[in-house]
This record gives sequence, structure tokens and C-alpha cells, in this order.
Amino acid sequence: MYTWRGEFKRYLLIFAVVGIVSYFFGVLLPSLLILTLILLGIDLLQLHRLQKWLAIDHASDKSAPPESFGVWGGVFDGIYRLQKQERRASAHLESLLNKAQESSAALEMGIVMINRHNNLDWWNRASESLLGLRHPQDRGQSITNLIRDPQFHEYFHSENYDDPLKLNAPGDSTQILEYQIATFGKHERLMIVRDITQLHRLESMRKDFVGNVSHELGTPITVIKGYLEAIIDNMQDLDPKWQKPIQQMHQQSTRMENIVRDLLLLSSLETKHRPKPQDSFSLSSLLSEIRNDTLQIYKKKSHNFTLECDASLELLGDRGELYSALSNLVVNAAKYTPANGTISVRVEHDEESLTIEVEDNGIGIDVQHLPRLTERFYRVDVSRSSETGGTGLGLAIVKHILMRHDGELNIESEIGEGSCFVCRFPQTRFRQSEPAVESIPQESSADTTTESPSTTH
Ligand code: ADP
Repeated sequence: MYTWRGEFKRYLLIFAVVGIVSYFFGVLLPSLLILTLILLGIDLLQLHRLQKWLAIDHASDKSAPPESFGVWGGVFDGIYRLQKQERRASAHLESLLNKAQESSAALEMGIVMINRHNNLDWWNRASESLLGLRHPQDRGQSITNLIRDPQFHEYFHSENYDDPLKLNAPGDSTQILEYQIATFGKHERLMIVRDITQLHRLESMRKDFVGNVSHELGTPITVIKGYLEAIIDNMQDLDPKWQKPIQQMHQQSTRMENIVRDLLLLSSLETKHRPKPQDSFSLSSLLSEIRNDTLQIYKKKSHNFTLECDASLELLGDRGELYSALSNLVVNAAKYTPANGTISVRVEHDEESLTIEVEDNGIGIDVQHLPRLTERFYRVDVSRSSETGGTGLGLAIVKHILMRHDGELNIESEIGEGSCFVCRFPQTRFRQSEPAVESIPQESSADTTTESPSTTH
């Protein structure tokens, strides 16, 4: 191993020997000059050899660098060592890449890599059969030129890939594909495409089945309930021992009717298109209607009901659906709050979102039940629900309707203290209507657009 210090000593020694000898012969300066030129020549020669060796194509010719001595020998060896290390690392990388490509080729789902210019970089074999991509002609093509569906374009450019997109396969309307995109690196995208035709078929069969069964059960239940009501109207003619069973039969048939009604509503929510934010309606009048209807049903409980909502606020969506969702929450508050309890409905908003809070000081819900509360038929306490005629579908309906309006539901509750159900809508789903200029005196416009909190007993 040569070191700089050793090399320096060697040079010093040569110069000293040549200097002393040439001094005796009286040719010091020319000798030193010749010696310097010789050493320079040797260095230039080594540089030339190194440059020649570097110019070789090392991918095909793996020959070692030329033999050398001194520091140059160390330089040649160092470069050769580095080159070997790099060759090993790239072989490892190549084998990893091959493995990744082979394993993704075996997958049934399509994997497509799209660069930051939206062009195709790489795709696996399944993508060719699912999307009709051709190898290698389509490399570098824009993905939006190859998948021309406007819904795909909207999804691709939205850059919001939280939910997957379901679409008919390009060129085959019988096949349903699910697209899921993830971004990585410098705005590059990885697109995963799955064939969900079978899954979609089963899901539609399930929805149709629930819809059809509910529909078919509707008529017999109405008939049974009708007869029971007729019997109850003539209860005095009935043997007293039948009176209680008939009452119970009537109660249960009402529950069955409610379950069928809720199942039908859920199945229609699942099959209908999402309501577009085009239709608008006054939120305060919707909430007043819900308050009045609920107070009418539960008037015996004499609840203390407060409603706070800015009269100029408008929701954008389906009024009927939002009536169902919000009235479910308010009716639940009334159902699960004892007589003389308090129910408050508050609406707040800022630039970004609007929240509707339905709060009560009723029996409350144990925290362990909160995550599962919006599941179908999930009930905290079966006896509690049958007493109140609940179906266990109400909150599932609420969640579904809110989702269809880009909203979300949060629940806070404490057993014995009461509950608070918060519906949050994004800024795209509400607006503040402009007050009619001529009908509103300028100095009091703020007051006229705000419905003052009302308390109803
Ligand atoms: P149900 O028709 O049984 O009321 P929901 O889906 O509307 O079904 O509610 C699910 C369960 O959540 C109910 O069984 C009830 O136990 C509980 N719950 C809902 N709202 C309230 C509330 N405001 N206070 C207490 N418990 C509630």
C-alpha cells in the first residue's frame, strides 16, 4: 500500500541523490530539469493509461485496470474496487427489479406506472388485457388518451383518490373495473385496476334482493295491520284474554312496517345516483318542520326544544333525503330523552364547513357502542329499542344520506348525561342566500337573516 508520505519521501530521495551526484559533476540545474521532465513524463503516461482503460465499455469488457506502481497503482486499484462494488449493487438491483416485474406479471390486477407528465412508464401484463394497453407502442402515451371515459378524466385530474372509481372497461360494457390511484415520488402515480364484474353483480343481486323482499313484505304486513286495527276498534266484542296479544301483535306489525320502510329507503339510497349540489333549500325551515313534527309525535314528553339556525343558510342537495336524516336524529333525541328533558339543535358555519348539532340530555350511550352505532341493526340495548319501536336502521340511514351529500357524522355521548350527534357538510354543500335588497332595511339586515333561538314546550 502506497501512501502520500512514502511517495514524497521517494521523490525527495531521488532528487537528493541526483542533486548530490550532479553537483559534483557541476551539472546540477540541467540534471534537476531532466529529472523533473522524466517524472512528469511518467505521470502523463500513467494518466494516459488510465484514460484508455476508462474509455473501455466496462459492461461487456470486465478487464482489470493496467498494472502500475506507486500512488498510481493505488489509484488504479481503488477505481477497480469501486467499479466492482457498483457492478455488484446494480446486479442486486436488477435481480430485485426482475423479481418485482415477474411477481406483478403474475397478478390478476393491472398495475400501471404513470409519470408526472401523465404518460405511461410501465405496466404489467394484466393491464394489457384489462385496459387494452399494447407493449411497447403505448409506452410514453398519455393515460387520458388511452382511457377516454370523461368520468376517468375527472377522477384522474381531481387528485382526490380517497375512494376508488368504478367504470365499465374500455371497449367492453359488460366488464366493470375499479381504478385506485396512489401518488408517489415527484408527482408520479401508481394505478391499480381490478376486475370487479363478479363482485358488482353479487352486490346488485344483494341490493335487488333486499329491495324486492322489503317490497313483497309490504303488502302482507299492511293487510295484517289493517285487520288488527279493525279488531282493536271493536275491542269490546273481544274475549278479554285476547286483548293483550292483539295489542302486542299490532305493536309488532307496526315495527315490521317500520323495518320494511327503512329497508326500502336504504336500498333506494344504495341504488340511486348521488344528489348533485344543484337544488337548494332553506335549512332553518327544514329544521323548523322537523322540530314541529317531532314535538307533535312526542308532545306528551313536554321536551324543552331549542333551535338556533341562521335563516339565510341554504343546504344544497335532496331535501327529502336530508329531512329523513335530520329527523332521524331529532326523533332519536326525543325517543331517548325522558319527559321534560332538553333537546337543542344548533347550526354553525364558517368558510369551510357547516355543522348541525343535535344535542340532548337524555339517557346517553356507553362509549364502547359509539363506533358501531351506524351499522345496520346495531342496537345498544334490544329492549330499549323495542320499547321505543326502533328498527336499528335509523343511524345507518343517516350515515348513508350524509355520505351522499359529502357529509360526515360524529357522535359524542356519555351514559346518563346525554348525546350529541354532529353532522358536518363541506363548503360545496351549503351557501348563504343573498337577502332581497329592497325588502330589508339596511341597518337591520343582520337581524333579519338570523332566526332567533326559539324554545318550544
Ligand atoms: P333505532 O331505530 O333502534 O333507534 P338507530 O339506528 O336510530 O336505531 O339508533 C341505534 C341505537 O343508538 C338505538 O338503538 C339507541 O340505543 C341508540 N341511540 C340513538 N340515538 C340516541 C340518543 N339520542 N340517545 C341515546 N341513545 C341513542
